[in-house]
Amino acid sequence: MNLKEKIYKWLDGRYKEIIGPRYSIVYVREWKNGAPPKKILIMQDGNYPDTLLFKCPCGCKQDIYLNLLTDTRPCWSFFLSKRKKITITPSIWRKVGCRSHFFIRKGKVKWV
Ligand SMILES: [Zn+2]
Repeated sequence: MNLKEKIYKWLDGRYKEIIGPRYSIVYVREWKNGAPPKKILIMQDGNYPDTLLFKCPCGCKQDIYLNLLTDTRPCWSFFLSKRKKITITPSIWRKVGCRSHFFIRKGKVKWV
């Protein structure tokens, strides 16, 4: 990759960050439909949240489910800032479809 291409790639990444969705959170007991735009659903049936659900930020319209239960792999965890902005760890890497790889930090998408 030459310098010009590198710059374009970098700019593209920044652009996606700026225009990308900023997610807010919603707690739900159950959810049967697809994820609403710009929302991360925190699904909790028992005492602890068990699943996160949100739309892929790349625009492919796929729903992403993340398991939060530590006895099942793979599993993710999340925490909320004082202003209820969600951070999810580790990164999210779709192995199918668009193959997007990104972090969600304080409700914002950071592309890898
Ligand atoms: Zn996608």
